[in-house]
Amino acid sequence: MEHKGVTVWFTGLSGAGKTTISQKVAEELRSQNYKLEVLDGDIVRTNLTKGLGFSKEDRDENIRRIGFVSHLLTRNGVIVIVSAISPYRAIRDEVGKRIGNFVEVYVNAPLETCEKRDVKGLYKRARAGEIKQFTGIDDPYEPPLNPEIECHTDKEELEESVKKVLEGLKKLGYLA
Ligand code: ADP
Repeated sequence: MEHKGVTVWFTGLSGAGKTTISQKVAEELRSQNYKLEVLDGDIVRTNLTKGLGFSKEDRDENIRRIGFVSHLLTRNGVIVIVSAISPYRAIRDEVGKRIGNFVEVYVNAPLETCEKRDVKGLYKRARAGEIKQFTGIDDPYEPPLNPEIECHTDKEELEESVKKVLEGLKKLGYLA
């Protein structure tokens, strides 16, 4: 299907629901034959940005590289779905400006909800001091000030969040 490229950027705390929502959104768009690529932070860190750590400098570099690839794909008419904590506002904004067709989705859930879910057991390890510089525990998260779309995963069912994203993209003119 011919369509406008766009980067749909999911940001939020670990365990907020970025991967879960973005996978469902990707599934839905694929079934509608959209050209699509998914860049998931956890996977990207094992190849494209392998070797980078979690200092501010390395986190920004991680986002810059994801942004670079997203830009290439976006300008070739691909819908790029990025799921990355991306805790720093300035670099998100910088990447968004460069890409142009950029939709920021804030996957918002309170820290205590994310910590209770502890999908990967990382919060427990961070609290125990086994992991340092863990976002939300001993590293900052700067929420978007004006996200195009915001999901409250502590109050919404997954399907509601997914619908919000799809309808948002439609309203913004990226979906038929
Ligand atoms: P992240 O990618 O942000 O680290 P995950 O998607 O891996 O987070 O985990 C989010 C967890 O929250 C999953 O276990 C998911 O089932 C649960 N969850 C509950 N409600 C929602 C919702 N509305 N949207 C997304 N995930 C939700």
